[in-house]
Amino acid sequence: MADLPGSAKIVIVGGGIVGCSVAYHLGRMGLTDVLLLERKKLTSGTTFHAAGLVGQLRTSANITQLLGYSVALYDRLEAETGQATGWKRNGGLRLACNPDRWIEVRRQATTAHSFGLEMHLLTPREAQDLWPAMNVDDVVGAAFLPTDGQANPSDIAMALARGARMAGVTIAEDVAVTGFEIEHGRVCAVLTQRGRIACDKVVNCAGQWAREVGRQAGVNVPLVSMQHQYIVTERIDGLPANLPTLRDPDRLTYYKEEVGGLVMGGYEPDPLDWAVDGIPEGFHWTLLDADWDHFQPIMELALPRVPALQTAGIRQLINGPESFTPDGSFILGEAPECRGFYVGAGFNAYGIAAGGGAGMALAEWVARGEPPMDLWPVDIRRFGRPHADVDWVRRRTREAYARHYTMAWPGEEAEAGRPLRRSPLYDKLKMRSGVFGEKLGWERPNWFASPLEETIDTYSFGRPGWFEAVGREHEAVRERVGLFDQTSFAKFLVVGRDAEAALSWICANDVTKPPGCLTYTQMLNARGGIECDLTVARLAEDRFYIVTGTGFATHDLDWIARNLPEGVDTHLIDMTSAHAVLSLMGPRARDVLACVTRDDVSNGTFPFGQCRRIVIAGAPLWALRVTYVGELGWELHLPTESAHAVYAALLAAGREHGIADCGYRAIESLRLEKGYRAWGSDIGPDHSPLVAGLGWAVKLRKNQPFLGREALVAQAAAPLPRLLAGFTVDDPDVVLLGRETIYRDGRRCGWLSSAGWGYSVKCNIGYGYVRDPAGVDADYVMSGAYELEVAGQRVPAKPFLKPLWDPEMRRIKV
Ligand SMILES: Cc1cc2nc3c(=O)[nH]c(=O)nc-3n(C[C@H](O)[C@H](O)[C@H](O)COP(=O)(O)OP(=O)(O)OC[C@H]3O[C@@H](n4cnc5c(N)ncnc54)[C@H](O)[C@@H]3O)c2cc1C
Repeated sequence: MADLPGSAKIVIVGGGIVGCSVAYHLGRMGLTDVLLLERKKLTSGTTFHAAGLVGQLRTSANITQLLGYSVALYDRLEAETGQATGWKRNGGLRLACNPDRWIEVRRQATTAHSFGLEMHLLTPREAQDLWPAMNVDDVVGAAFLPTDGQANPSDIAMALARGARMAGVTIAEDVAVTGFEIEHGRVCAVLTQRGRIACDKVVNCAGQWAREVGRQAGVNVPLVSMQHQYIVTERIDGLPANLPTLRDPDRLTYYKEEVGGLVMGGYEPDPLDWAVDGIPEGFHWTLLDADWDHFQPIMELALPRVPALQTAGIRQLINGPESFTPDGSFILGEAPECRGFYVGAGFNAYGIAAGGGAGMALAEWVARGEPPMDLWPVDIRRFGRPHADVDWVRRRTREAYARHYTMAWPGEEAEAGRPLRRSPLYDKLKMRSGVFGEKLGWERPNWFASPLEETIDTYSFGRPGWFEAVGREHEAVRERVGLFDQTSFAKFLVVGRDAEAALSWICANDVTKPPGCLTYTQMLNARGGIECDLTVARLAEDRFYIVTGTGFATHDLDWIARNLPEGVDTHLIDMTSAHAVLSLMGPRARDVLACVTRDDVSNGTFPFGQCRRIVIAGAPLWALRVTYVGELGWELHLPTESAHAVYAALLAAGREHGIADCGYRAIESLRLEKGYRAWGSDIGPDHSPLVAGLGWAVKLRKNQPFLGREALVAQAAAPLPRLLAGFTVDDPDVVLLGRETIYRDGRRCGWLSSAGWGYSVKCNIGYGYVRDPAGVDADYVMSGAYELEVAGQRVPAKPFLKPLWDPEMRRIKV
């Protein structure tokens, strides 16, 4: 065994496909002081027993792009490294066997078109021509992705390892990492059975062991091991070698050709955990015992589809454990708990498909300290408090596994592990027929049922069961007044002598206003992309209160913490649990508020964009005059223990004004009408405020430096490559959900980032970026003739740039 170096700039832990891919890409970037440590032999963890299907389509454009990158890489890898990969681009088929699934598949095809991925809709007969061994009696339609493919997983990983070595990366096998040294919150050394290795950065690619490896550095990697099985048959006469991969979600199964026979696996509705008490020692090149009883229902679903399976010899039933995550997406990025400690793990049985692209993205993230593009759907900072509990993670993950092939309904909520985090008003709102959704463990009222309605979500690709109820709440807010429990908001305090200077640096808008002022602002990365979108309330000279979305708690806290300038006298405190939030919104909000407080809430004393300390029902609280629904209103941030008293007072005073409990689904339709952007869909790290139409919220004209300023100045000097625009579709039979393709003058120019029904304006509303490399401005947007592709059909659409709803005029503006 060669001697291990005493130091390396970057140490990768784990030699499966993901670790090898990170090593390969770091090597190609010219970084050679890189050491990959594998506990046993390369690929001996999970990679060696994967089935090897490589599909590309996901619901996010950037993640689809990563998988597309894998395909392009696998196309050339064998020639580049001289190592066979078993890669073939034989295409992928997806079947639909009922009308709802057919809508889903057609919507997926539209999403694929939006993202520039070829996907063709086929008749059952056309699908059978591509896959003659299948029975299509129950098939309604199918889709074909010609650029999907399949690979030999171990060979792909070995080719990546070879490419890494060729570039100068060191790979050491039979070296287990046993711990880490952390100094001042930053990793500085890796401990192994064979000694200490000083390093600047660590990349944890330890597959299903990544949770344990992370724990050694105080980092939470919320994944668990689940059993996953597939059969490998003997040769079946007549199977062509170029047979596409096949996914049959209504029968929970997938297929690929392998040496003249078939591989067939599936996602059971009752998945089996594995290694609940920890992965046993010595688990490498190891499979689990084949569990025929558990596989039987999958087999029974497959037999009618592929009758040849009835007589084909079964060579093996492979049962391998794989790491799965609570939301079915993998985990990438620098851990918020430890600087310099990166994670690439939890690949949910698509690590071969994702390995190439995820390795590329993670290598760039490690090398440059930021991801090459917006990777929020897989960012490790999407997790939070609930994910610290592995039993909760397991419950939620089991559900995600079981739903792998079930219909992905618009607005579908997870059910496992609920209720967990609850506002003090949870029970009360439940009794008042609140129907709840969940975000980062928080229960949040989505809508409220009338006495005639059932308090359950009824999902649909048309108008869902809650459609009328949300319309009532929407109307209450527009016409009278609505009360929202938004306790789940993430809230932080930034305090200290240098708080103003520190926030001035990280906020794109001017926060140096007097105490009592609110600022809506973005926080930008060095590329000018929007990392956070939030409200900053100045409570005192040295005290700022930040309010951001529930799901962004970990992300935004981490962003602020890591970008506070060195050496400042500033403290960042998470206040989320200290305050409940009640939002009182609507034209009669002031009438209600004035009834419950002796403080002056008149417009003169308490104008828009201000915050004041007021008292309601024995509770001193912060009232923020702000809105996300486009109406007069206040967010009331109150001590958690006062939530009941304040809620009761508001409800009693509101009765004569027609107050209504309202939920998050109404917020969505209200904000669509008012043109407020949503971080994570309409805006994110890839979008600057300029392209998002938020230039008015940036202090470019002021002489204040801020993070991202140079990038914005440069962007402002040239034509913008895209601009966020709104679209309306009048036909009420059309349902916009997001990801519909935008056509301008017959040419594809983008896709909808978010969409829904506007109850006041009585039409469908969608937002999306209109792209043109030659430059896009308001005239360009407004002068085009537009269509949207919705589930494969083109419908006419009208563009708009100014908000549709004007609360002053009480009507549509355009
Ligand atoms: C039955 C089955 C079928 C599958 N089918 C497909 C498919 O068709 N398509 C697809 O895309 N994906 C599929 N997958 C998923 C795919 O196999 C995985 O997502 C992928 O292999 C994960 O790669 P990895 O590098 O993250 O993990 P691994 O391959 O497990 O690599 C992690 C490595 O880390 C090493 N390690 C652990 N701890 C330490 C330590 N302390 N020190 C040093 N090294 C350590 C381990 O020994 C291991 O080699 C399937 C999985 C299973 C189980």
